[in-house]
Amino acid sequence: MYWEQEIETMPREKIVEMQLARLKESVKRASVSPFYAQQFKETGFDPNDIGSLEDIEHIPLTTKDDLREHWPYGFLATSRDELVRMHSSSGTTGRATVIFHTAHDIDEWANIATRSMYMTGMRRSDVFQNMMTYGLFTGGLGLHYGAERLGALTIPAGAGNSRRQIQLMRDFGTTFIHIIPSYALHLYTVFEELGMDPRKDTNLKAAFLGAEPHSERTRKRVEELYGIKAFNSYGLSEMNGPGIAFECPYQRGMHLWEDNYIVEIIDPHTGKPVPDGEEGELVLTTLLREGMPILRYRTKDITRIIPGPCECGRGHRRIERITGRTDDMLIIKGVNMYPIQIEKKLMEIPGVGTNYLILLEREGYNDHMTVKAEVEKEFFSGNLKQLETLRRRITEELKSEILITPRVELVEPGSLPTTEGKAVRVIDNRED
Ligand code: AMP
Ligand code: ZN
Repeated sequence: MYWEQEIETMPREKIVEMQLARLKESVKRASVSPFYAQQFKETGFDPNDIGSLEDIEHIPLTTKDDLREHWPYGFLATSRDELVRMHSSSGTTGRATVIFHTAHDIDEWANIATRSMYMTGMRRSDVFQNMMTYGLFTGGLGLHYGAERLGALTIPAGAGNSRRQIQLMRDFGTTFIHIIPSYALHLYTVFEELGMDPRKDTNLKAAFLGAEPHSERTRKRVEELYGIKAFNSYGLSEMNGPGIAFECPYQRGMHLWEDNYIVEIIDPHTGKPVPDGEEGELVLTTLLREGMPILRYRTKDITRIIPGPCECGRGHRRIERITGRTDDMLIIKGVNMYPIQIEKKLMEIPGVGTNYLILLEREGYNDHMTVKAEVEKEFFSGNLKQLETLRRRITEELKSEILITPRVELVEPGSLPTTEGKAVRVIDNRED
C-alpha cells in the first residue's frame, strides 16, 4: 500500500522535526546562490536565525519575476559541473524560467514520483502510457523516471497523435495513463470517431490528470467516459514538476510531500499566512534541492490545506484541487471570476461536449464575454429548438455562477481548436 511506509505514515511531530532540520540545511545551501546571497545581505536575514518552522516567515518570498530577472544562473547553489538536467516552465507570459537539477535532485524527484503513482495503486505489472510532452516541459520526464523506478512497463508516447495513442493502448494493454485533462476529453472523441469505446476496447484502470486546472466535474466525466479512476496530479517546474502533490485512493485533495517541501498558504494581497483550511496562494520551499534551492516560492496557484487526517493513513497534509491562479482571474464589467467556474458549470450540463472557449472583447466601453461550447451532434440535426433551449439553459446557469450574462454560442463537436499541451481556454481581445 505504501512505497515508503515510514516516511508516508510519519506522525506530524516527526514530519515537523524533519522539516526543521532540512529547512536549516536548505537555507544554508541557498545562501551561496548569487540571488539569495544578495537578498539575505539586503534584508539582513541570517540562515542561523532559523530556530523553528515559524521562522520561515522571516525569509522574503521569491517570485517568478525574481527567477526571470536572475535568468539563467542566478539561483544556482552548486557549480555547473554538478548539473545534469534543465527544464523550463511553460512560459505563456514573458520569458520562460529555467530550473537546473543535479543527479541527486533527479533521484529525489523520481522518488516522490514513484511514491505518488504507487499510492494510487500502480504496480510493476502495470503498463504506463505517458501522454505528456517530453522535453523542456516537466510532464514527460517527470513521471517517466518514477514509473520506471516503480517497475511498470513505461511507454514514452509523448503528446498528441491521438490515433497512435489509441493504437498503443490497445496493442500493449495500457492500464495507467498520464494525460492533460482537456486532452483526455478530446481523446475520447477520437475513440468515438473510430467507433470504439474505451470502457470496452482498452484495459485502462486509471489516469493521472495534471498540468492544468480542471473541475471535479471534469474528473468525473473522464472517469465515466473511460470507466476508470482519475487522480489529480499537481506540480510546477520551479518545484520539479509532477509528483509534488498527488491524490490517494480516497480522492479528497492531494497529499503534498512534506518531507520534500514546506507548504504555506498566504493571503496574496498581504503576503501573510492564512489559517489552516482557508483559501489563499500556495507558497512552497524546497527542502532537498541541491542545484537550485528555492525558498518560499509564490506559485500563484489558489488552494487551501484540507484540515484533518486522511483515511489512507498518510501524515502529509493535503491541498485542495487548484481553483485558479492569482494571474488568471478575469475582471469583466468589474466582476471577478476564474475560468474554472465556467468549466465547472458547463461540465454539469447534459449535452455539453468536451471543449469550450471563453472570448473576451471590448465594444466601446463595454466588456463582452462570449462562451463557445461544443455540444453533442444530435442538437444540430432536425429541429433546432432543442439547441436553443440548451443555449438558454447554459446562459442562465452561467449567469447564476458568474453574475454576468455571457453570450453563449453552441457549436458542433470538433469545431473548437485543440492543443497538444495545456488547453487555451481564454482569448482576451480587450485592449489595455
Ligand atoms: P509548468 O511549470 O509549466 O509545468 O506549470 C505549472 C502550473 O500548471 C502550476 O503552477 C499550475 O498553475 C498548473 N497545474 C499543474 N498541475 C495542475 C493541477 N493538477 N491542477 C491545476 N493546475 C495545475
Ligand atoms: Zn490519503
